Amino acid sequence: MVRLVLVLGDQLTPDVAALRAADKACDLVVMAEVMGEGTSVPHHPQKIALILSAMRKFAAGLLAEGWQVAYSLLDDPENSQTISGELLRRAAEFGAGEVLATKPGEWRVLRDLEALPLPVQVLADDRFLCSEAEFAVWAEGRKQLRMEWFYREMRRKTGLLMDGDQPAGGQWNFDHENRKAAKADLLRPRPRDFAPDAVVEEVLDLVEARFSHFGRLRPFRWATDRAGALAALAEFIGDRLPRFGEEQDAMLEGEPFLSHAVISPYLNLGLLGPMEVCRAVEDAWKAGKVPIAAAEGFVRQVLGWREYVRGIWVLTGPSYLERNALGHSRALPAVYWGGETGMACMKAAVGQTRDLAYAHHIQRLMVTGNFALLAGVDPAAVHEWYLSVYVDAFEWVEAPNTLGMSQFADGGLLGSKPYVSSGAYIDRMSDHCGGCQYRVKEKVGEGACPFNLLYWHFLDRHRERFKANPRMGQMYRVWDGMDGGHREAVLAGAERVLARLEAGAVV
Ligand code: SF4
Repeated sequence: MVRLVLVLGDQLTPDVAALRAADKACDLVVMAEVMGEGTSVPHHPQKIALILSAMRKFAAGLLAEGWQVAYSLLDDPENSQTISGELLRRAAEFGAGEVLATKPGEWRVLRDLEALPLPVQVLADDRFLCSEAEFAVWAEGRKQLRMEWFYREMRRKTGLLMDGDQPAGGQWNFDHENRKAAKADLLRPRPRDFAPDAVVEEVLDLVEARFSHFGRLRPFRWATDRAGALAALAEFIGDRLPRFGEEQDAMLEGEPFLSHAVISPYLNLGLLGPMEVCRAVEDAWKAGKVPIAAAEGFVRQVLGWREYVRGIWVLTGPSYLERNALGHSRALPAVYWGGETGMACMKAAVGQTRDLAYAHHIQRLMVTGNFALLAGVDPAAVHEWYLSVYVDAFEWVEAPNTLGMSQFADGGLLGSKPYVSSGAYIDRMSDHCGGCQYRVKEKVGEGACPFNLLYWHFLDRHRERFKANPRMGQMYRVWDGMDGGHREAVLAGAERVLARLEAGAVV
């Protein structure tokens, strides 16, 4: 009997588990563009266009290699507009009695597959460098799941950037060298824009007609196949990797990419593999083309952080999405959907997100994430926003980053303290504050930077939880050492900001 081999839009790897296990001679590959996925959250139009374009090209490649493919176009009148519906339709059409799938990166999709009235075999997604079982063994019995220890084990296991059993360059981590502010007058090679071809143009018209979500669709700059993804990787390594490390936390107006790789969408779709990108970076270091701090900083993101958050997502299961350790409940402010704001840093991060479906990790963590956390926004709403607006956001990677690292909603499983800061950090790492309506040096009053006000309000309202945290004691000592009248003025200012957010007024 024919088996249906499901390939999802982020499983575009020729040797993904379900394809490896399938028989080209008799099984049928099922790929489906469905509104159910495009609208499960209001995904950015560029993200939808990237996935649909890449799916169409990947399906064409499978056909060329002799696979039988049943591909559902979004505007096919027969399309049931859900993955389950399309599997059932194809099962009836082709007399198929079984589904072979690779584990999806979203619990909702897995739940739907498991509810199908057909036998479904879900295979482990072995495109990751750490298997689910390996991560479970590593996590077993540990009080705190520290990424740094996991990363060192992964370095040892893979031999990446290792010199025998010692880390190359004599250190495991060069992070302290990678926190420099960026110089505005430095010329940086911008990542190449991939001009849309006929396939992409057709998809762009389709997305324009069917989706009205937040975000600009054009200009569309993404590569949509493996050849393009490889070109983007090579260009990053040649042009921007040498400065990737030192500039990785910096933010500059009008410089959305700085020295970042901007290959996460390709990795997360399956167009690139994690080991091949790490090896390519290691090779560049071995050839003397990039410093160890840059190579190590990059490898840590992919081999360390990416694998680690995936492990956390698997380990904690679907209930992780509901965590809200700090009891935050505010609605997501309108500024996140492009509403007016006087905060230059937020305007830059959200504006860039609207235009490019991309922002780098410090913009996500220390600007939009920091503000949501300080303002006490419901973490589920923050999670939905990040999952929607970023071209590289898939639940397995986005949820631990947002709920764990950014919003502390997991109560400290990922991070030993919340990532909060006043405006001083943003001022140090960016050039936003000079052009802001607020003044970063002001601690109280109408003109004070909202991050300054909300920072102390956050610490004050969560004192019971954090006062004994050794990494936060110093901040409480600073707060407690301030004059009582000053403290009251700060809290009153923060309350004013929160009231404005509550009322939907511009902040
Ligand atoms: Fe952002 Fe505050 Fe700086 Fe304005 S002053 S850009 S709100 S950190």
